[in-house]
Amino acid sequence: MGLPTNIAIGSRVWVEDSTVAWIDGEVLNIKNEEAEIETSNGKTVVANLSRLCLMDVDVPEDGVDDMTTLSYLDEPGVLHNLATRFQLNKIYTYTGNVLIAVNPFQRLTSLCDAHLMERYKGAELGRMSPHVFAIADISYRAMIDERRSNSILVSGESGAGKTETTKLIMQYLAFLGGHSFAEGRTVEQQILESNPVLEAFGNAKTVRNNNSSRFGKFVEIQFDNHGRISGAAIRTYLLERSRVCQISDRERNYHCFYLLCSAPAEEIEAYKLGDPRSFHYLNQSSCYELDDVNDAQEYLATRRAMDVVGINENDQEAIFRVVAAILHLGNIDFAKGEEIDTSVIRDERSMFHLEMTARLLMCESHALEDALCKRVMITPEEIIKRSLDPLGATISRDGLAKTIYSRLFDWLVDKINHSIGQDSNSRFLIGVLDIYGFESFKSNSFEQFCINYTNEKLQQHFNQHVFKMEQDEYTKEGIDWSYVNFIDNQDILDLIEKKPGGIIALLDEACMFPRSTHETFCEKLYQSFKSNKRFIRPKLTRTDFTIVHYAGEVQYQSEQFLDKNKDYIVAEHQDLLTSSKCPFVASLFPPLVEETTKTSKFSTLGARFKLQLQQLMDTLNSTEPHYIRCVKPNDELKPLLFDNVNVTQQLRSGGVLEAIRIKCAGYPTHKSFHEFVRRFSILAPQVHEEPYDEKEVCKLILDRVGLTGFQVGQTKVFLRAGQMAELDSRRAEAL
Ligand code: ADP
Ligand code: MG
Repeated sequence: MGLPTNIAIGSRVWVEDSTVAWIDGEVLNIKNEEAEIETSNGKTVVANLSRLCLMDVDVPEDGVDDMTTLSYLDEPGVLHNLATRFQLNKIYTYTGNVLIAVNPFQRLTSLCDAHLMERYKGAELGRMSPHVFAIADISYRAMIDERRSNSILVSGESGAGKTETTKLIMQYLAFLGGHSFAEGRTVEQQILESNPVLEAFGNAKTVRNNNSSRFGKFVEIQFDNHGRISGAAIRTYLLERSRVCQISDRERNYHCFYLLCSAPAEEIEAYKLGDPRSFHYLNQSSCYELDDVNDAQEYLATRRAMDVVGINENDQEAIFRVVAAILHLGNIDFAKGEEIDTSVIRDERSMFHLEMTARLLMCESHALEDALCKRVMITPEEIIKRSLDPLGATISRDGLAKTIYSRLFDWLVDKINHSIGQDSNSRFLIGVLDIYGFESFKSNSFEQFCINYTNEKLQQHFNQHVFKMEQDEYTKEGIDWSYVNFIDNQDILDLIEKKPGGIIALLDEACMFPRSTHETFCEKLYQSFKSNKRFIRPKLTRTDFTIVHYAGEVQYQSEQFLDKNKDYIVAEHQDLLTSSKCPFVASLFPPLVEETTKTSKFSTLGARFKLQLQQLMDTLNSTEPHYIRCVKPNDELKPLLFDNVNVTQQLRSGGVLEAIRIKCAGYPTHKSFHEFVRRFSILAPQVHEEPYDEKEVCKLILDRVGLTGFQVGQTKVFLRAGQMAELDSRRAEAL
């Protein structure tokens, strides 16, 4: 917030506003701590002085490329700058080393052509306008020059443009490190074509994004000693499994299901497919088609991309056969059996789908029926076959569908990695991370918990990096930074991941005891974190808990936590598919070895995810990071519409303002001697006397004004928060 002392009658200020976040106005009157302001939309409002921010009247009309050059580095300044540029189709802006990318929701001409890439090649940062290519270029140069790995972290909420941005980065790296004369399938082509394959199986339409990635992705591009791409590894995180059998209205299931329903006639006939409206896993939502997407063409394009990444014809056939099997599986319904608590296949139609599923998965239809409707119980005395009631059988069916699909997805990732090949001699890589941003919905479950946990980890990494960059700059300029501090989010991470005693550990414990329920789990949380500042026990519920995340509070519903955390396959399903006559299907379900049965029984998603995340952080920590923050300008997915309130929220939760806060804890304003003198020479009129030394002049001016706490470095003046405003008001008086 601006310093109240510098605000006077006549000052141009920003004042908070519920519809546009911040509105500009002029101070008409000040009484005690309250200012009366006439806003630019003609209203008069009253606000406390401490809630106002001074407006920098010197900002160029079309905004600045790098927001750290703004004299007032505060929320309204940042927001206004982004909004101004967005209207001019300038979607990229730096905040120091962080690139902010606002989704244009329209193809901006020449945005990604080869010509443009050529111009960014080797260009100094700042010479060309801000761009994703510039970030990719610096990463590549840094890797070559310093012989060390780099990474580019792309974040933002769903629909903000992360995946599109990631694709531009990969395209640019392929352009720089590609083998232009190579024949056939080159590594970089395979890397690029892995995108459409993974998107077909891992993306879906949601209300937030028509092509939303339902998994996190880290692509590691390996380079040889000549700076050419020599291999790549793709790691994926947490595919959303529930979507396979449950979708909300206006959303869709994974793209591949619809693509297959639009496949050429022979395939439709062979798999007995047809209208997607006839399948339960698709018809829970009334949305089938996507604007501007032709599923039939996409199907063929996906098959071609599969060719490029090295999935052979046989495997392709098997993959889509499994996809078809899942659709048929979802149409098997159950009715009450003759005996109590048993179930049978409901009718002729369900029987047909059962036969089809079995045929496509190449297993016995009786065995499939048993696997769906019965459970084997092994007691010390005997082996009992117990029947499931219709609801139990339906849950069993959906569980099978989710397991098959997630194994299929993992297979694809493995296959792509295998076929692109790893360069074990590669010493440097560029990692590109495209991962879900912070989520806070009306209802938040285990998925949101994992996603927000990821974001806490990344936020910590980001804070530490921004802080370190600041320190490096201070050191370079020879100024003292010993008393600059920042608040870390380690306490939230402890709450989540500490072992023993953190939420994940308590959840795992609950999953191991058969008697635990989500109620007992929550009770345990309430007891354990009674006095934890980051944990809140919400009123009026016995099964919710709230975590105070860095980006805000999120209330989680614990109902599904235990089920979703348990990560083992039902033995009957395993046996059924291991014995499939189709080698592809059988390979998705390798027989469990005695050893692993025990451990996998208690393997949990939470623990596995925590480990994956730790590995990711280790990789990132060994690289030089670069950050891109994607911003979604509006929820209507429309071009040229910039919703201030919405964007402000994202800047807060995306850590952009956090970075600014870290800067403000030290010396938020860095002005070169030259710039400083130009702006403030009026405060020391004798500056024109010889000898003319800019550094001395700066000191003289600062002395005159009587500021304390600032520092003068080798080339720049470092000002504390509010000092720029103080200088400006003196300047205004002097003018
Ligand atoms: P995220 O991965 O963050 O959820 P996407 O990258 O899938 O978001 O982007 C969502 C949609 O926004 C895309 O399908 C595309 O229509 C549009 N979009 C995103 N970035 C750009 C861009 N740079 N240029 C044009 N359109 C874009
Ligand atoms: Mg995405």
